Amino acid sequence: MPTTNNQRPTTRIGYGWDSHEFKRGIPLKIGGVTIAHPKGLGGHSDGDVLLHAITDALLGAIAGPDIGSLFPPSDPQWKGADSVVFLREALKRVQAAGYVVANLDSTLILVEPKIGPHAAIIRAHVAELLGISPNAVGIKAKTPEGMGTDNAAIAHVAVLLEKVARASRKKKGTG
Ligand code: MG
Repeated sequence: MPTTNNQRPTTRIGYGWDSHEFKRGIPLKIGGVTIAHPKGLGGHSDGDVLLHAITDALLGAIAGPDIGSLFPPSDPQWKGADSVVFLREALKRVQAAGYVVANLDSTLILVEPKIGPHAAIIRAHVAELLGISPNAVGIKAKTPEGMGTDNAAIAHVAVLLEKVARASRKKKGTG
Protein backbone atom coordinates (compact mmCIF):
# COMPACT_ATOMS: atom_id res chain seq x y z
CA MET A 1 0.00 0.00 0.00
CA PRO A 2 1.37 3.44 -0.83
CA THR A 3 1.88 5.71 2.18
CA THR A 4 0.21 9.09 2.58
CA ASN A 5 1.13 12.13 4.66
CA ASN A 6 -0.83 10.60 7.51
CA GLN A 7 1.04 7.32 7.20
CA ARG A 8 4.67 8.31 7.16
CA PRO A 9 7.10 5.41 6.87
CA THR A 10 8.45 4.14 10.20
CA THR A 11 12.07 4.41 9.03
CA ARG A 12 13.94 6.20 6.29
CA ILE A 13 17.50 5.68 5.04
CA GLY A 14 19.84 8.45 3.91
CA TYR A 15 23.20 8.46 2.17
CA GLY A 16 25.80 11.22 1.79
CA TRP A 17 29.21 11.53 0.16
CA ASP A 18 31.80 14.31 0.05
CA SER A 19 35.43 14.95 -0.78
CA HIS A 20 37.85 17.79 -0.06
CA GLU A 21 41.47 18.43 -1.06
CA PHE A 22 44.24 18.79 1.52
CA LYS A 23 45.95 22.18 1.67
CA ARG A 24 48.97 23.10 3.74
CA GLY A 25 48.70 25.54 6.63
CA ILE A 26 44.97 25.40 7.40
CA PRO A 27 43.29 23.60 10.34
CA LEU A 28 42.06 20.05 9.80
CA LYS A 29 38.49 19.52 11.01
CA ILE A 30 36.81 16.12 10.82
CA GLY A 31 33.45 15.56 12.48
CA GLY A 32 33.73 18.97 14.15
CA VAL A 33 36.99 17.93 15.85
CA THR A 34 40.22 19.83 15.12
CA ILE A 35 43.06 17.36 14.53
CA ALA A 36 46.72 18.40 14.69
CA HIS A 37 48.13 17.91 11.17
CA PRO A 38 50.29 19.99 8.79
CA LYS A 39 47.45 20.11 6.23
CA GLY A 40 43.74 20.83 6.49
CA LEU A 41 40.87 20.40 4.07
CA GLY A 42 40.24 23.26 1.67
CA GLY A 43 36.82 24.47 0.68
CA HIS A 44 34.54 27.45 0.95
CA SER A 45 33.50 26.53 4.50
CA ASP A 46 35.78 24.90 7.08
CA GLY A 47 36.08 21.87 4.76
CA ASP A 48 34.72 19.36 7.29
CA VAL A 49 34.22 16.48 4.88
CA LEU A 50 32.50 14.23 7.45
CA LEU A 51 29.96 16.82 8.64
CA HIS A 52 29.15 17.64 5.00
CA ALA A 53 28.49 13.97 4.20
CA ILE A 54 26.36 13.58 7.36
CA THR A 55 24.41 16.74 6.44
CA ASP A 56 23.68 15.39 2.95
CA ALA A 57 22.71 11.97 4.36
CA LEU A 58 20.19 13.62 6.73
CA LEU A 59 18.78 15.79 3.96
CA GLY A 60 18.61 12.84 1.58
CA ALA A 61 16.72 10.74 4.12
CA ILE A 62 13.86 13.25 4.10
CA ALA A 63 14.16 13.83 0.33
CA GLY A 64 15.19 17.41 1.06
CA PRO A 65 17.43 19.78 -0.92
CA ASP A 66 21.15 18.95 -0.81
CA ILE A 67 23.82 20.85 1.13
CA GLY A 68 24.98 22.77 -1.96
CA SER A 69 21.44 24.02 -2.62
CA LEU A 70 20.91 25.19 0.96
CA PHE A 71 24.39 26.66 1.44
CA PRO A 72 25.76 27.57 -2.02
CA PRO A 73 29.58 27.95 -2.17
CA SER A 74 28.94 31.06 -4.28
CA ASP A 75 27.30 32.76 -1.27
CA PRO A 76 29.94 34.77 0.65
CA GLN A 77 28.12 34.29 3.97
CA TRP A 78 29.30 30.64 4.06
CA LYS A 79 32.99 31.51 3.53
CA GLY A 80 34.92 29.84 6.35
CA ALA A 81 31.62 28.76 7.95
CA ASP A 82 31.57 26.25 10.80
CA SER A 83 30.00 23.16 9.19
CA VAL A 84 28.08 22.51 12.42
CA VAL A 85 25.70 25.22 11.13
CA PHE A 86 24.90 23.05 8.08
CA LEU A 87 24.39 19.95 10.22
CA ARG A 88 22.05 21.77 12.61
CA GLU A 89 19.87 22.99 9.73
CA ALA A 90 19.62 19.44 8.35
CA LEU A 91 18.76 18.09 11.80
CA LYS A 92 16.09 20.77 12.22
CA ARG A 93 14.50 19.67 8.95
CA VAL A 94 14.64 16.00 10.01
CA GLN A 95 12.84 16.87 13.25
CA ALA A 96 10.28 19.02 11.42
CA ALA A 97 9.55 16.05 9.17
CA GLY A 98 8.77 14.00 12.30
CA TYR A 99 11.90 11.87 12.54
CA VAL A 100 14.86 11.29 14.85
CA VAL A 101 18.23 9.77 14.00
CA ALA A 102 18.39 6.08 14.93
CA ASN A 103 22.00 5.48 13.92
CA LEU A 104 24.68 6.54 11.50
CA ASP A 105 27.62 4.78 9.89
CA SER A 106 30.55 6.41 8.11
CA THR A 107 33.71 5.54 6.25
CA LEU A 108 36.53 8.04 5.80
CA ILE A 109 39.03 7.42 2.99
CA LEU A 110 42.36 9.21 3.36
CA VAL A 111 46.09 8.48 3.53
CA GLU A 112 46.79 10.56 6.62
CA PRO A 113 46.40 11.39 9.39
CA LYS A 114 45.46 7.98 10.77
CA ILE A 115 41.91 8.28 12.12
CA GLY A 116 42.13 5.42 14.63
CA PRO A 117 43.62 7.50 17.47
CA HIS A 118 40.92 10.17 16.95
CA ALA A 119 37.93 7.92 16.24
CA ALA A 120 36.58 7.88 19.80
CA ILE A 121 36.55 11.67 20.15
CA ILE A 122 35.04 12.13 16.66
CA ARG A 123 32.37 9.54 17.50
CA ALA A 124 31.54 11.26 20.78
CA HIS A 125 31.38 14.70 19.15
CA VAL A 126 29.19 13.62 16.23
CA ALA A 127 26.89 11.79 18.68
CA GLU A 128 26.56 14.93 20.77
CA LEU A 129 25.78 17.06 17.70
CA LEU A 130 23.06 14.61 16.66
CA GLY A 131 21.74 14.06 20.19
CA ILE A 132 22.28 10.30 20.03
CA SER A 133 24.44 7.75 21.84
CA PRO A 134 28.06 7.26 20.69
CA ASN A 135 27.07 3.60 20.30
CA ALA A 136 24.87 4.72 17.39
CA VAL A 137 27.74 6.37 15.49
CA GLY A 138 30.11 4.30 13.35
CA ILE A 139 33.44 5.89 12.42
CA LYS A 140 35.60 3.77 10.10
CA ALA A 141 38.62 4.71 8.02
CA LYS A 142 40.46 3.25 5.06
CA THR A 143 43.39 4.27 2.87
CA PRO A 144 42.65 4.98 -0.81
CA GLU A 145 44.50 2.01 -2.32
CA GLY A 146 44.84 2.43 -6.06
CA MET A 147 42.42 5.35 -6.24
CA GLY A 148 44.92 8.15 -6.92
CA THR A 149 43.26 10.36 -4.30
CA ASP A 150 46.23 10.63 -1.92
CA ASN A 151 45.77 14.39 -1.41
CA ALA A 152 42.05 14.19 -0.66
CA ALA A 153 39.78 13.11 2.16
CA ILE A 154 36.55 11.35 1.20
CA ALA A 155 33.59 10.56 3.45
CA HIS A 156 30.68 8.18 2.92
CA VAL A 157 27.77 8.24 5.38
CA ALA A 158 24.57 6.23 5.80
CA VAL A 159 21.91 7.25 8.31
CA LEU A 160 18.71 5.63 9.51
CA LEU A 161 15.84 7.81 10.71
CA GLU A 162 12.97 6.63 12.87
CA LYS A 163 9.52 8.16 13.01
CA VAL A 164 8.85 9.97 16.30
CA ALA A 165 6.29 8.09 18.39
CA ARG A 166 2.77 9.42 17.92
CA ALA A 167 2.21 9.89 21.67
CA SER A 168 5.17 12.26 22.06
CA ARG A 169 4.07 14.32 19.04
CA LYS A 170 0.51 14.66 20.34
CA LYS A 171 1.66 16.70 23.32
CA LYS A 172 2.31 19.61 20.96
CA GLY A 173 -1.39 19.95 20.14
CA THR A 174 -3.29 18.80 17.07
CA GLY A 175 -1.77 15.27 16.82
MG1 MG B 1 32.01 19.54 1.22
